[in-house]
Amino acid sequence: MGTLVGVTLYARNAAEARAAFERAFARIAYIDALLSDYRADSEVSRLSTTPITISRELETVLRFARRVSEASQGAFDVTVGPLTRLWREKRAFTDDAKALVNWRDLHVENGKAWFAKPGMRVDLGAIGKGFAADEAARAAGVASVLIAASGDIVCREAPPGEKGWRVEAAGKVLTLRHAAVSTSGDSRQFFERDGKRYSHIIDPRVGAAMTTELEVSVVARNGLTADALATTLRVSGDASVLKRFAARRA
Ligand code: ADP
Ligand code: MG
Repeated sequence: MGTLVGVTLYARNAAEARAAFERAFARIAYIDALLSDYRADSEVSRLSTTPITISRELETVLRFARRVSEASQGAFDVTVGPLTRLWREKRAFTDDAKALVNWRDLHVENGKAWFAKPGMRVDLGAIGKGFAADEAARAAGVASVLIAASGDIVCREAPPGEKGWRVEAAGKVLTLRHAAVSTSGDSRQFFERDGKRYSHIIDPRVGAAMTTELEVSVVARNGLTADALATTLRVSGDASVLKRFAARRA
């Protein structure tokens, strides 16, 4: 998914630590091979109008993404792929690409997924890293571990003798355990034209890159939730999405 991942953990000895690192990184490599749209052979890149059997992991992410799209009325939409691709390659958008973006046209049923229209693409850039961090934290198999996939951080039990992991987000130092924090903004990735700053984050409802300057951090129970909701709030700028999302979960 085109990012560096850091793993910090506590173990009883060096051999146990090494084995835990190996399990965490192996899990990340596995998730990346499923979810990365930078890879033509990933599961997500193979989605088309013909239903294919998908992994439990991809199904989890796509189902969760759907709930966030519903709650955000399309501000968050992983079918944004045709637009993000044009933006990455040409710094432009077309109406044809926008017409292909609609989370309602991505079907997930009985372990299979498919698109309603040819030319659709899924981009998990706003949700995959949080999920990968969750999975790596679990796979490490030690109690006290922190996974940092750039702006997406997941931590489990606190370091020995501490109240929690100290993590910086939104200019604050948070003390977290069994929690995740994700930040979505443009401090690292943006593009400038005629003095205007364009984000790598797109508003799928209008088919344009965000130009408002906003950075959002979300603390949640897991990385999947924190990552998706941080991007959602970055796009919508509207915290009422959180209420709608929580209501749906109940
Ligand atoms: P970062 O990748 O910087 O951590 P985000 O988690 O917010 O930030 O993810 C941004 C990425 O998500 C973009 O690079 C793009 O691949 C994808 N994306 C852009 N706009 C949207 C959107 N409205 N909904 C879902 N995914 C998006
Ligand atoms: Mg995100």
